[in-house]
Amino acid sequence: MEGCLFCKIINKEIPGDIVYEDDDILAFNDIDPKAPVHVLIIPKQHIPTFNDIDDPAIIGKITRIIQKIAKEKNIDKGGYRVVANCNKNGGQAVYHLHYHLLGGRELGWPPG
Ligand code: AMP
Ligand code: ZN
Repeated sequence: MEGCLFCKIINKEIPGDIVYEDDDILAFNDIDPKAPVHVLIIPKQHIPTFNDIDDPAIIGKITRIIQKIAKEKNIDKGGYRVVANCNKNGGQAVYHLHYHLLGGRELGWPPG
């Protein structure tokens, strides 16, 4: 979608530090990491928010990729967090659905 930052990364109009890519999904390192591992996993289809997911099959695919990356980054056993911020109160800044994979340190709870 025009003007969407993450669509621009998908289309290679701006660079992304890509960790994984297939026909449906892209994963790249967060530009401002909040933990030693901070990867964003996104559908290539422009879905603005969690509210807009029509076909939950994409979430199944994303789940598989998150598991794979967590294993590759060696955070699967120690543990990690998967977060999807939705709209203003959820703290969403980029309106292209994305999951944060955070790990590599003990994470605080509850979130602020
Ligand atoms: P959210 O607040 O859930 O919408 O998260 C948006 C995330 O995108 C933040 O963690 C940002 O640090 C990250 N971000 C913003 N611009 C870029 C970029 N060009 N490449 C990688 N990550 C980005
Ligand atoms: Zn987009």
